[in-house]
Amino acid sequence: MKLGFIGLGIMGKPMAKNLLKAGHELVVYDIVKENMDILVEAGARAASSSKEVAQQCGIIITMLPNSPHVKEVVCGENGILEGAKEGTIIIDMSSIAPSASQEIYTICKEKGVKLIDAPVSGGEPKAIDGTLSIMVGGDKEVFDKVYDILMAMGSSAVYCGATGAGNTTKLANQIIVALNIAAVSEAFMLATKAGVDPKIVFDAIKGGLAGSTVMNAKVPMILDRNFKPGFKIDLHIKDLNNALDTAHKVGSPLPLTAQVMEMMQTLHADGFGQCDHCGLVKFYEKLTGDEVVSK
Ligand code: NAD
Repeated sequence: MKLGFIGLGIMGKPMAKNLLKAGHELVVYDIVKENMDILVEAGARAASSSKEVAQQCGIIITMLPNSPHVKEVVCGENGILEGAKEGTIIIDMSSIAPSASQEIYTICKEKGVKLIDAPVSGGEPKAIDGTLSIMVGGDKEVFDKVYDILMAMGSSAVYCGATGAGNTTKLANQIIVALNIAAVSEAFMLATKAGVDPKIVFDAIKGGLAGSTVMNAKVPMILDRNFKPGFKIDLHIKDLNNALDTAHKVGSPLPLTAQVMEMMQTLHADGFGQCDHCGLVKFYEKLTGDEVVSK
């Protein structure tokens, strides 16, 4: 099938490559030309705008940073809606505010264009392996129609409910990941300060109740002092911002999220916004003057 793909960053590149591997024809666009070059080398065709992608493709995937970027790419000048035919399907796989998904869905509907929100979890490694967890909001019949396309990028695609439900599910995911990294950072700093090798702590507890996918992915990075993103602290700040906004609208207080948000804001102010989110450990390293490293 001929598909459009807009937003070829850390996640978009491997996801688009997996669609090519699954036999789809791809027309791609990104504001950064070098990102498009990588996909063209892999067999995709480059477009000069989101509008041009929409003129050529009936199904378009977007993988962009946040709500304003999706709004611009879909509804802005030279955007998808300027080039789309009636019946076009947009699969927005970016993590954005649920209220923004609903707003963009409504604008699309007026033009006869269908949009589902389908954010992902799993990070770059699972994007490369094609084993992302995909959570979907929107019209169920659109979900059913694009299910096989989603499964070329993921190992699961779960229908969560009406428009915005995919992104609400993703916010829950992001709260759990942020708090888990903060807990891991706090605990591993305690072990370090108390004189127990953090690598030994990891080996001792990873199979127990405290073990988690987050711990398995992030502790080795911390011990290797590898803060190359992965998932940037600045993007996690964006997600926690969307979570706090959404929570305040529905009356569900997020005291722990608010605390971790301020820790991330501190790191952003210190110039660590482009580090992987396991860089949260640096918050504790700044407090104690010690580093979480294996001796
Ligand atoms: P990224 O910053 O690496 O990539 C975003 C891409 O969008 C960039 O290539 C950028 O040039 C492009 N872009 C921005 N504005 C554009 C526009 N107007 N037109 C065309 N292209 C435009 O971000 P990422 O890490 O790939 O994340 C993308 C989305 O996926 C975010 O919403 C993020 O929260 C979510 N996500 C990321 C991860 C991860 O581990 N990186 C995991 C799960 C979900």
